[in-house]
Amino acid sequence: MIHFVGAGPGAADLITLRGAEHLRTADAIVYAGSLVNPALLAYAKDGCRVYNSAEMTLEQVLDVLLAAEKAGQTAVRLHTGDPSLYGAVREQMDALKAQGAAYDVTPGVSSFCGAAAALNAEYTLPGVSQTVIITRLAGRTAVPEREALASLAEHGASMVLFLSAGMLPAVREALLQGAYTPDTPAALVYKATWPEQRVARCTVGTLAQLGEETGIHNTALILVGDFLGPDYERSKLYDPAFTTGFRQGEAT
Ligand code: SAH
Repeated sequence: MIHFVGAGPGAADLITLRGAEHLRTADAIVYAGSLVNPALLAYAKDGCRVYNSAEMTLEQVLDVLLAAEKAGQTAVRLHTGDPSLYGAVREQMDALKAQGAAYDVTPGVSSFCGAAAALNAEYTLPGVSQTVIITRLAGRTAVPEREALASLAEHGASMVLFLSAGMLPAVREALLQGAYTPDTPAALVYKATWPEQRVARCTVGTLAQLGEETGIHNTALILVGDFLGPDYERSKLYDPAFTTGFRQGEAT
């Protein structure tokens, strides 16, 4: 059996109970060494074979996973955050499926959730935004033209940019072509939930400057939107006057 496991954003105790159990029982672990906290490998049993996928090709990763599976062993493919975001997992799952290998997926806490926690923030504030746009600037991986950052920025929604902290001037320019202004709150979160986590608040206008000042250029998320500002409306769900399926509202 092969388990794809989300490692969580960094802190070793932010993996799920199920994910930790898979690590404890694995005969082989292939972990994304560029971003997964090596402290998670402490869950592995004695004799577990451990491979760092940062130094491997897709084919080499598949060889390790398939060899374990064919030998009746258990393998874990450990991805940072949640595997479904920028995880390159689909190509692995499709290749395993083509070989008839059994696999499943255990989700993880994505870094965008870790970053919100670091900022004590809520992405979906009433009266501010009810949408979170998760995107990136194009790097070696292209972004479809219809998803150009400037056009996504037209919504003015809460936004999280992965894989883009090394391109802050370009991020700022694209955001300003949309609904955001130089005063829209923004933040850089470096290594959210790791011991070396750093959080820097700024505005869209000062994003690039903040990158220079802090030296944060990678392993960071850019958060943008008025959800980082002071104003919002209180929830209807917990409003005393509001009736829900679970609670009768008080007459006002
Ligand atoms: N699947 C992962 C994302 C992998 S892409 C997830 O769900 O979080 C790698 C990018 O994710 C990094 O370049 C960075 O932008 C972001 N990232 C991953 N872990 C992070 C963390 N702990 N803090 C801030 N950003 C992180």
